[in-house]
Amino acid sequence: MIVEGRVQIPFRYAAGAAASRFGAALRDERRILGARCTGCDRVLCPPGPFCGSCGGAAGAAVEVGPGATLLAWTELPDRGAFALVRLDGADGALAHRLVDVPEPRVGMRLRARFAPERGGDIRDIEGFGAEGIER
Ligand SMILES: [Zn+2]
Repeated sequence: MIVEGRVQIPFRYAAGAAASRFGAALRDERRILGARCTGCDRVLCPPGPFCGSCGGAAGAAVEVGPGATLLAWTELPDRGAFALVRLDGADGALAHRLVDVPEPRVGMRLRARFAPERGGDIRDIEGFGAEGIER
């Protein structure tokens, strides 16, 4: 017998210094702040407390984007296109939505589009649109 259900677990946690700077800069200034790893010098974005590559601590803030390069994308039924993008100045990839990109191509230039109402998290970026096509 299989019993299906859904568990909803509200939670809160302290985001840490780098993620807090990231959220505040998105919300208040429409800027994207990564953090330089103190161990391997990679620029982490979005920044967590530690580097996923070497385990070093997230250090100094580094402004990245809003320009980005499309690394990969997929179309999800009823949800639109999702992509991995590399923000200018960042290492690694950020997963986010594509908006108004009728013909995505790996390597094409994109630009972050900020939400008109922002609350201090990754959703403050609505998605990434084709560079040169502004709304
Ligand atoms: Zn590192």
